[in-house]
Amino acid sequence: MKYINKIFSIEKVSAIKLAKRFGTPIYCYSYNKIKENVLNFRKNFDNFKPLICFSVKSNSNLYLLREIKKLGFGADVVSIGELIKALKAGVEPKKIVFSGVGKTSGEISYAINKKILLINAESKSEIIKIEKIAKSKRKVVEIGIRLNPNIDAKTLSQISTGKKTNKFGVEENELYRLINLIKKSKYLKLSCLSVHIGSQILDYKPYIKMLKILGRIIDKSRHKFKFIDLGGGMGISYGDKIKKLNYQKYSKEVNKFYKKYKAKIIFEPGRSVIADAGVLISEVIYIKKTNYKNFVILDAGMNDLMRPALYRSKHKIIPAIKRNQLQKKNIEFVGPICETTDSFLILKKFQKIKEGEILVICDVGAYGMSLSSNYNLRPRPIELLIKEKKINIIKKRERILDII
Ligand SMILES: *Cc1c(COP(=O)(O)O)cnc(C)c1O
Repeated sequence: MKYINKIFSIEKVSAIKLAKRFGTPIYCYSYNKIKENVLNFRKNFDNFKPLICFSVKSNSNLYLLREIKKLGFGADVVSIGELIKALKAGVEPKKIVFSGVGKTSGEISYAINKKILLINAESKSEIIKIEKIAKSKRKVVEIGIRLNPNIDAKTLSQISTGKKTNKFGVEENELYRLINLIKKSKYLKLSCLSVHIGSQILDYKPYIKMLKILGRIIDKSRHKFKFIDLGGGMGISYGDKIKKLNYQKYSKEVNKFYKKYKAKIIFEPGRSVIADAGVLISEVIYIKKTNYKNFVILDAGMNDLMRPALYRSKHKIIPAIKRNQLQKKNIEFVGPICETTDSFLILKKFQKIKEGEILVICDVGAYGMSLSSNYNLRPRPIELLIKEKKINIIKKRERILDII
């Protein structure tokens, strides 16, 4: 994705042309970028050939799931809906792991019937429920336990998941008790120890700390785990400041860990696979000038892209046509939703723009469409995938009548 003759283009397809042809807002993805991310992710950990399960909650478009599956990834799901979708996309059940703190009986039962690789349990009550269901089906079910390692992942508090105050996983002492509980069951087999300490992690050190804790706990438990699921959380650079996770350092440590414990390593990346492969193309409806700032009112809102409202996260906004004239004033890019938090970004300068112009919100491939809603009774945007210069409609724009 880059400017070609000053026009922002996705694999040589102009964002302006897409806006004219399909209307706005549009979620548009680049196949080449997804492929590059998938191959890079795998290459980073090539020494120990991990099972890589794409986190479906980051983007659950069926067409994209199919493409990611074809590139060899499995799936990490957190609901029966995501599980059904992953299966529909053709993901092999033996490459699917099921996480989440609140799996219902129906979800557990379905997962057992489909013979997925692992259900990663997050509490004693859940384990008891899985055993009850397994028993009723007279089946032995392989499960994992998710550990809460009490680590600060040095990320936004809203997307930190591995601290003792977070709802996820079980603490160390509970883990030992649960291992003993599972040993007594005829219907459960403990195959996996899993962790996922948070999202948008850019510092490798929390990961290293996590590996140390895992090692110590495995030694102490004396349990032989077939799988160690290290979760996802690898961050990307959303801004101009190039800050990147040091995969080499992380990979080297995981490799050492792998050699020592000889368990199959599982990763569950979401954001790092898909975030920078998607943009949101939007039109400026109005420019509203006040004494304090200029509001640029877009036709994309927090219902289309919730991350700024939900986490105060910042996505780069760029013009679809690049020009040289600059305006210096506080410029706030907002959506049309009746909420003050429906605001994407405030900048001190931006290129001069007019009403009716097209802008591009960057790095929205992960937790963009998947977090979207019909709030204010607005239909969800169309999704396009550009692959080999071809424009594929991978999800139609919702029509007003669909949602009334
Ligand atoms: C959300 C989630 C992931 C993916 O996180 P990313 O930051 O998108 O890589 C992986 N595993 C679990 C259990 C999750 O909840």
